[in-house]
Amino acid sequence: MARVYNFSAGPSTLPESVLAKAASEMLDYNGSGQSVMEMSHRSPVYDEIIRSCQSLLRQVMNIPDNYKVLFLQGGASSQFAMVPLNLMNKNHKADYMVTGQFSKKAKDEAERYGEVRVVASSKDKNFTYIPKITKADLDPNADYLHICFNNTIFGTKFPYIPETGDMPLVADLSSCILSEPIDISKFGLVYAGAQKNMAPAGLTVVIVREDLIGNQMDVTPTMFNYKVHADNDSMYNTPPCYSIYMCKLVLEWIQNEIGGLEKMKERNAAKAKVLYDFIDSSKLFQNNVNPEDRSMMNVTFVTGDADLDKKFCKEAAEAGFVNLKGHRSVGGMRASIYNAMPPEGIDKLVAFMAKFEADNA
Ligand SMILES: *Cc1c(COP(=O)(O)O)cnc(C)c1O
Repeated sequence: MARVYNFSAGPSTLPESVLAKAASEMLDYNGSGQSVMEMSHRSPVYDEIIRSCQSLLRQVMNIPDNYKVLFLQGGASSQFAMVPLNLMNKNHKADYMVTGQFSKKAKDEAERYGEVRVVASSKDKNFTYIPKITKADLDPNADYLHICFNNTIFGTKFPYIPETGDMPLVADLSSCILSEPIDISKFGLVYAGAQKNMAPAGLTVVIVREDLIGNQMDVTPTMFNYKVHADNDSMYNTPPCYSIYMCKLVLEWIQNEIGGLEKMKERNAAKAKVLYDFIDSSKLFQNNVNPEDRSMMNVTFVTGDADLDKKFCKEAAEAGFVNLKGHRSVGGMRASIYNAMPPEGIDKLVAFMAKFEADNA
């Protein structure tokens, strides 16, 4: 059976060579006589897998030594609570930027634990842009500023990193991690659900500056305490073993086949340009996002006619381009073109869109 081009926002497409490698190691990992799915997380053979996953991530993302890498579960959504429980600890105040549905959820969750202020929101224009803020907009007493760097549902991305001075900047990187180089030293903490750009679902990666660990509120559940996971090298309890193994394979793919994050960015920028250029030149399709805030990972577009959008998604799926329906809160279409979407997937999608446009003129 032929593989489809899968534009799902997550879980999403994985590199074919990674899937092939995982398949070849499925029954017998590296002479161990077992699948990675079956082995003890305390075994030396698994220890080697989680260690190399972490060291590869550090290398590929150029993570400074004073940051811990944690492999957790619970999805990015658990971080919406874990961040305030651990970081909203001095003045019990935090600043949030609301640039979409996930940052709104993060803000709502934080309100359970302290005083939350919305510094800026783009709700006035249905989240089609990223507000500009400066340090002067921040509450100097806030314990941190939280942002969602790439807004998966609306197809926007921060074109800048907010300047926060000494205040820790916290970012949800779920849908853009590993898509391009990012200077981790500008952040106090970043987190990502792995199922967009790193691995299958089940793994949540947290990268946190060491001095921010260990100040959790007393009510913090053990499993929601960064210190517990940091002190135990992400082995306090059973980690999401197989997803961590897959993450290692994806990182090897980025390093060895792509050539690192600079190359990944070039490839992703070129892919996104093909799609945005076509949409901008099309009379049928349009993208409503402020051009400089466009996401390189999630490309939203509409025809302006809900029935035609529906027809497009149906015919696209029949032609092998699946999961193009936009999020239910936005409508229209969304092509999630994460790292693993090959450039020819975009070229073929654009050819299909051109034909659909001609047929429906
Ligand atoms: C997908 C996504 C989430 C939700 O992630 P879960 O792992 O399902 O909890 C949160 N934030 C962003 C930016 C996302 O793309």
